[in-house]
Amino acid sequence: MGGLATNVTALHLRNFIDGAWVDATGNDAFEDTDPATGELIATATKSGVEDVRQAVEAARRAADGWRLTPAPRRGEILYRAGELMLRRKEELAREMTREMGKILAEARGDVQEGIDMTYYCAGEGRRQFGDVVPAELPDKWAMSMRQPLGVVAAITPWNFPFAIPTWKLMPALVLGNTVVFKPASDTPLLAVRLVEILMEAGLPKGVLNLVLGPGAVLGDALVSHPGVDLVSFTGSSETGAHIGALGGRLLKRVSCELGGKNAIVVMDDADLDLALDGIVWSAFGTSGQRCTAASRVIADRGIAAQLTDRLVARAKKLRLGPGLDEQNTDVGPVISRSALEKVHSYVGIGEREGATVAAGGRVASEGALAKGFFHEPTVLVDVKPNMRVAQEEIFGPVVSVIETASLEEAVRVVNSTKYGLSCSIYTRDVNDAFRFMRDAETGLVYVNAGTIGAEIQLPFGGTKSTGNGHREAGRAALDVYSEWKSIYVDFSGKLQRAQMEP
Ligand code: NDP
Repeated sequence: MGGLATNVTALHLRNFIDGAWVDATGNDAFEDTDPATGELIATATKSGVEDVRQAVEAARRAADGWRLTPAPRRGEILYRAGELMLRRKEELAREMTREMGKILAEARGDVQEGIDMTYYCAGEGRRQFGDVVPAELPDKWAMSMRQPLGVVAAITPWNFPFAIPTWKLMPALVLGNTVVFKPASDTPLLAVRLVEILMEAGLPKGVLNLVLGPGAVLGDALVSHPGVDLVSFTGSSETGAHIGALGGRLLKRVSCELGGKNAIVVMDDADLDLALDGIVWSAFGTSGQRCTAASRVIADRGIAAQLTDRLVARAKKLRLGPGLDEQNTDVGPVISRSALEKVHSYVGIGEREGATVAAGGRVASEGALAKGFFHEPTVLVDVKPNMRVAQEEIFGPVVSVIETASLEEAVRVVNSTKYGLSCSIYTRDVNDAFRFMRDAETGLVYVNAGTIGAEIQLPFGGTKSTGNGHREAGRAALDVYSEWKSIYVDFSGKLQRAQMEP
């Protein structure tokens, strides 16, 4: 890693402000631990409001130089970053598994998603298309072009500690914005690694700044700082609503990517083997901690009993363990003790409302599992669509089975929550598939695949309380991180009045 590795001294993680790795002004620190073993991975500097101020000011100072750097040159830096990520993929994946718990195969996928996003945005260095349209008056030229907003604050969660930051940083940077990056306190190491890579790839100082520390303290300072033009946030709906309200009062652009309560519909003509593979992967992959995780299975009554029995059998077979143990682990830990408690509380909430635990249901504490935060893959049955377990985001390996009698009823149930991120249908009936694609009120729809697995070249995001109308990834991301400027050039040499000339 060349000279840049000096930022980590005995794995003490620091802020990166104005091109230098620095401790926070308060000299306080917090711990970064492995959720599978409880082992300390690193200490990290704990920033306060003053550090946010310094980071925003550095980003502000760098804004003009970066805005005026030709976009193809900005794209070339991203290409180099992508190459570095590719070279370090395995090392990044292993660090990620230690830091946030997802199994190694998934951690490799997380890094790969970051690489994909980086290359995709690098290409935008030579695109960023605007329009040139005919003007209604003679000797007049009309065109539009994208402009950066200025300084972007990127606030990211721990569940995709590499991919999600790239979803925000790469479009922001290639469009000419400078950035203050505030990653989740559970995953500061992967954030440091991403900043190292981007700096090594050649970003000028001040263009990307990193502040580590508690969102509850840093968040308001970042959002309300007059030097921040756009806040891009992924995380819980509660925090998103808070940020949205604060930013809205200041007339700032705030892009929020929030929770989900995603459903898989299985019709009675479905390939059940395929559906089961999709359900198990979508419900228990990443221990259910994906915003697109399937937490409801909506089973047509013709196959509900058979599907449930087979799902229960599959869930019981899944092996919990540390994600680094590739041979023996199917499902890793959840991120923290408080997450474990929250996930487990939903088992009790479900039972009190009349649901039955058909698989799992317990905090796993046998042997070495006791050192980490493991919850058994859990299947709840006898669930009605309005129960809390069928309405609220659990964000853990818990899935509820709901029985329905028709496609129309299944669609109603899919759409019955406040969220609208992802859903899927398993059917062999092309008409049912198309009706579902049309009527599902979600930003992502899958046919004969689970609810997870979005690719970066299409828009990502959801309706209703899943967000506030923006989309990440794909071409849509460009709209979040840029302003349109329309330019008219009149070369007639006389006053021409639009809409008023004969
Ligand atoms: P949060 O929304 O609290 O955290 C996400 C990010 O926001 C983190 O960087 C966090 O910092 C920061 N943050 C926290 N408070 C504020 C604030 N007041 N202002 C600005 N930023 C803030 O989610 P949690 O990690 O606490 O997870 C709680 C629940 O959120 C989960 O159980 C899940 O339901 C949902 N969630 C959904 C995600 C998704 O992909 N849609 C991702 C993560 C969580 P810090 O880490 O320092 O607190």
